[in-house]
Amino acid sequence: MRSTMMDAPLQVSRILEHGSTVHGTAEVVTWTGAESRRMSYAEVGRTAARLAHALRDECGVTGDERVATFMWNNTEHLVAYFAVPSMGAVLHTLNIRLFPDQVAYIANHATDRVVLVDSTLIPLLARVIGEMTTVRHVVVAGGGDPAPLTAAAGDRITVHHWDDLLAGRPETYDWPEVDERDAAALCYTSGTTGNPKGVAYSHRSIYLHSLQICMPEGFGLAPTDRELAIVPMFHAMSWGLPYAAFLSGASLIMPDRFLQAAPIAEMIAAERPTLAGAVPTIWNDLLAYLDSHDVDTSSLKEVIVGGSACPPALMHAFAERHGIDVIHAWGMTEMSPLGSVARPPAGATGDDAWRYRYTQGRVPAGVAARIVGPLGEPLPADGTSVGELEVRGPWITARYVGDEAPDEEKFRDGWLRTGDVGTLSPDGFITLTDRAKDVIKSGGEWISSVELENALMAHPDVQEACVVGVPDQRWDERPLATVVVREGASVTAEELREFLAKSVARWQLPERWAFIDAVPKTSVGKFDKKVVRSRYADGGLEVRELAGP
Ligand code: AMP
Repeated sequence: MRSTMMDAPLQVSRILEHGSTVHGTAEVVTWTGAESRRMSYAEVGRTAARLAHALRDECGVTGDERVATFMWNNTEHLVAYFAVPSMGAVLHTLNIRLFPDQVAYIANHATDRVVLVDSTLIPLLARVIGEMTTVRHVVVAGGGDPAPLTAAAGDRITVHHWDDLLAGRPETYDWPEVDERDAAALCYTSGTTGNPKGVAYSHRSIYLHSLQICMPEGFGLAPTDRELAIVPMFHAMSWGLPYAAFLSGASLIMPDRFLQAAPIAEMIAAERPTLAGAVPTIWNDLLAYLDSHDVDTSSLKEVIVGGSACPPALMHAFAERHGIDVIHAWGMTEMSPLGSVARPPAGATGDDAWRYRYTQGRVPAGVAARIVGPLGEPLPADGTSVGELEVRGPWITARYVGDEAPDEEKFRDGWLRTGDVGTLSPDGFITLTDRAKDVIKSGGEWISSVELENALMAHPDVQEACVVGVPDQRWDERPLATVVVREGASVTAEELREFLAKSVARWQLPERWAFIDAVPKTSVGKFDKKVVRSRYADGGLEVRELAGP
């Protein structure tokens, strides 16, 4: 029997219509350095209509053509997030921090026709626009001299100014009905090996994913919330926060290019967010700042931390010293990106609740998960069997853009192979021990680099610690600990090893130690272990070696 239900497509324009009418008084706030500029969601709706008209009439965007953004998190980027998919075109969020060659590769692979750019990023875009062979129009938001763009790309591109382009255009747009399975947005992985791979989110996947973000077991958004969206809009769609904000009526606070601890602290005090999202390195820096400055963070109840493993010490420090709950979450670009959120189950209290909070979290109904062994054989979800995590669901990609068939290295029998290693409990909590490629194989046993990092970062004098496996004649691989010491503190390798010995088995203790100024980071702020390994291999690290296991 067929249902009697209407077949209304799940599409981005519906999220826009809802947010800009029902929640029209909610606002997006963009930090400008010392203060904020603000726009109501109703005005975002009108501006999105004007941008869509401009893209169609002046830039010739039709059908599913690609419109790229090369922007910080700000109001104009939010407008593009809605205008482009709503008009049926495909939004492509370019990662401004990738190497120029990779940015050009991605833009060409996606056949981007238009690029929307923040004026502060003109110099960066000018370095690559000459290689972006399919681009015909560049729209500059904010005042700035676009001459470097035309100098680099010549007559191939027409440069427009955002304000001029949008001026006088109609404030409504007859958003077309789209096939909900068509692409709405494109994001490329920030993979550190090989070329980035494209993931095309559908209108349907965005809609469903946004609902999950709003759920209490997700980020629990309500119209009373103000979300500080630090996670870049060019990285996994800012974890879906912009769309979820329009669904829920939560206001948005955008940091633009001010991503250091001091301006973020200032934003928190001035704009009073209730919730924020970013990778652990940002929170780690902010914690050090908050510990030494008097900042009013009383509005902030929860910060969602994901993108890499969140050290338990960071969670405790925020809870105990600043009254802020750090909620651990896990996901991937390939997963829109939400995979799991670590909220303790009903009845868990005290240490028991903390143990749940250390995990990567519980999967929602939209994410089916399993653990598999080396041959792909499913292992029990018993919380102890360790293997690679595989996932599937309506907001998880089934292949990469341009691939006729799923790449066998990344997909197996309709499941996405995450490359993450860990356990799955009967009640759906994922605990990751490592990336498959970062696990340290020592004398036939596995050492978790993340576990060592977490233990080291619990030391009061350690600001950051990154552990990688390095070749060892006797044991095959051994851990190398690279450590950033907190400003004004001093600590020795011997002392750190003794400290580790309290929580880590002796045979896992690193004998190689290097003190460094900063851990190298990827384009999205994660520890770049590939760079650490190659620095070690090239002799670029001053390594101290203690006696072995
Ligand atoms: P990306 O596609 O850049 O978001 O990277 C996804 C990868 O980041 C995952 O496959 C994990 O390896 C890692 N990751 C994300 N969140 C976490 C987390 N909470 N704990 C550990 N690793 C994480």
